[in-house]
Amino acid sequence: MTNPANIAEVSAPMPWQAQTWSRLNQQLAQEQLAHALLLTGPRYTGKTTLALALARLLLCAAPVGGLNCGKCHSCELSASGSHGDFRWLEPEGTSKVIKIDQIRQVVEFIGRTASFGLRKVIVIAPAESMNISAANALLKVLEEPGANTYLILVCHRPHGLPATVRSRCQFLRPAGPSRAQSLDWLDRICGTRAESERLLNLAGELPLLAAQLHEDRTGERLQLARLAMQGLFSGESRGAALTAILADEELPRAMGQLADGIQALLRRLDRAALATAQARAAFELLDEMRGIQRAINGGSNPNQQLVLESLLAKVQRVLGDGGLGDNIRTCP
Ligand SMILES: [Zn+2]
Repeated sequence: MTNPANIAEVSAPMPWQAQTWSRLNQQLAQEQLAHALLLTGPRYTGKTTLALALARLLLCAAPVGGLNCGKCHSCELSASGSHGDFRWLEPEGTSKVIKIDQIRQVVEFIGRTASFGLRKVIVIAPAESMNISAANALLKVLEEPGANTYLILVCHRPHGLPATVRSRCQFLRPAGPSRAQSLDWLDRICGTRAESERLLNLAGELPLLAAQLHEDRTGERLQLARLAMQGLFSGESRGAALTAILADEELPRAMGQLADGIQALLRRLDRAALATAQARAAFELLDEMRGIQRAINGGSNPNQQLVLESLLAKVQRVLGDGGLGDNIRTCP
């Protein structure tokens, strides 16, 4: 956990995950909870929140109402990030990948007896950031996690994981939020409904991204990127404006924004428009970006500026004639 200081006494799932949560509680009560869970779904919908709530529930000595109690010694330790039976794996430092050494430590951790004699829990988030050797090292553990050990893999791109890993996990795909649920949740963070709506629109209906925009005030910049992208798609502006806006972002983040924009455009097309060569070229661009992301996850370190410029030149070539972009202007 990057910032244990932000962890509340009790970790609850997101409001829209209630159904999934009650099923998990039921499985736990009936001792049928899978020992390797793969939590999937779109980014920024609270998968990590669910993973944390489940991990802390599993570690708690005396759960209350289906949640961790927040009072027992185990809950105190899991809140401070120092619970001996709890491991939270994510890329360390500036690295974008979870490395084999981190998985080896987990394998060793699983071999030990639980300090509290209850359960051991490992969360890997995001699981697709494991490099191939790390994923392979995890396989053995997934085959035989041990009776009191639970692995929770959080992942928004399951296909970024080797099939051998996927096949050993039980998939769990919590429902995403309705717009009303997102807004109710955001109101408590943003203060006003108008601000919640503005940020939710800006974040493409992803509530946790909207909350992040509120917190780090990157909203205005993202809005600029959106406008520049719409200009590019509609043939009204060149790629230079977008290059300037995205240049300060790290490549994966810049590509993420670009991919989100292209996907938003494609989502608005009808079947006939999707069958055109232009739309196919747009899908190929998305594939290319996924390939670059995979290479970065695998440890490659391409020249950021060159990659971004080349991508934007292709976006302009493929989409910049206003053909598909005409569609976007007719949409709200
Ligand atoms: Zn507790």
